[in-house]
Amino acid sequence: MALIVQKFGGTSVGDPERIAHVAERVIRTAQAGHQVAVVVSAMGGETDRLVELARAVGGDRPNPREYDVLLSTGEQKTIALLAMAIHRRGHAVQSFTGTQLNLRTDTAHTRARIESVDDTSLRTVLDSGAIAVIAGFQGVDTDGNITTLGRGGSDTTAIAIAAALDADECEIYTDVDGVFTTDPKLVENARKLDVISFEEMIEMASLGAKVLQIRAVRFAMRYGIPLHVRSSFHTGPGTRVVVQEEVMERLVVSGVTYNRNEAKIRVSGVRDQPGVVVRLFSPISEDGIVVDMIIQNFAHDGSTDVTFTVPRGDYDRAMELTRAAGDAVGARAVEGDVGIAKVSIVGLGMKDHAAVATRMFQVLAEEGVNIQMISTSEIKISVVIEEGFAERAVKALHLAFVEAGASAPVPED
Ligand code: ADP
Ligand code: ASP
Ligand code: MG
Repeated sequence: MALIVQKFGGTSVGDPERIAHVAERVIRTAQAGHQVAVVVSAMGGETDRLVELARAVGGDRPNPREYDVLLSTGEQKTIALLAMAIHRRGHAVQSFTGTQLNLRTDTAHTRARIESVDDTSLRTVLDSGAIAVIAGFQGVDTDGNITTLGRGGSDTTAIAIAAALDADECEIYTDVDGVFTTDPKLVENARKLDVISFEEMIEMASLGAKVLQIRAVRFAMRYGIPLHVRSSFHTGPGTRVVVQEEVMERLVVSGVTYNRNEAKIRVSGVRDQPGVVVRLFSPISEDGIVVDMIIQNFAHDGSTDVTFTVPRGDYDRAMELTRAAGDAVGARAVEGDVGIAKVSIVGLGMKDHAAVATRMFQVLAEEGVNIQMISTSEIKISVVIEEGFAERAVKALHLAFVEAGASAPVPED
């Protein structure tokens, strides 16, 4: 007998028929002799609808506590419906909200971090042979306020539950067959990967492959939780996320990702002196805005330019703070651009190949794509380009690095 955590995303529970299908699937796992804890998302599109409602009533910055109270209702609906569907089929089941489970988080509304999970009531339910159905994406802080974990957060709930229960496996059921070499909804020839390392998956998730929330992957890696991403529409195998040593084939590029959720800010004509950059970035970081890429140009005549990217949702606030900071340090101008995209290639095999970056730039040049910013790490290369070119860039890079084969286009040094 194994203990299995199964997580079903929004599309997988998107209507009554799909909920019935999930109920049957979960019951089959239980009937095979396993203990099953199920984590569910809000029905497809529901969270977006709630976000719109919050804005319509609460303005651009709705009260964060009430925003979380509202958004958590999406998942609450799904647990009740799925539990009803399981009851109807004659199997014992109990649903849990984050509060009922005492899934403790910090107090950072809309992006709370999980601190602990009380597994007592869950274990009682599972030991009685019943299925536990848990609302993803939500928790409760020490004062009893409902919190949410950020978009895509049900993945993280699933991993937290798997860690707390020391589960044998965590299965993430979604609307595609697994983790692909790029977004299969964008590139027809995207290929499903049978396995991917945690390291590559973390990079892919952080660079835009929304199939798993990045925090969930980090969490699973830290606790050594076997992760299987698979389709909720059929029973075929999906993608296993495993430790690096278990990946037999080190692909030069295992994934191409894109992210349209960033914006660029440029501060020009700042003095090239110690302390200036700190004064530019402190207000932004104190406001909780995460800066991603940063480029500082070579100085000419004692002055330089600093360009950086921030999440698009934080752009207005970041511009406001940077304008004030720019004035304070005597910058010549502060300009912003929301029309950008970040396109990246990710692969463990890049460590052994020096020519990957050159090849990437060559492919983009041949497509007429201008590169605005570049950043690299051991297993990824990212470029910022004009948003309108994102799709073309992803397709060209996928063709060159994945479809054409891993080794052919990349001479070894
Ligand atoms: P769920 O609601 O099940 O959590 P999400 O919409 O959050 O599903 O994530 C699944 C989606 O992620 C897919 O429909 C796909 O379009 C997108 N996606 C982006 N990049 C990838 C990738 N590399 N592999 C698989 N899916 C990807
Ligand atoms: N319902 C939430 C969202 O849409 C959480 C999730 O689905 O993972 O972001
Ligand atoms: Mg998701």
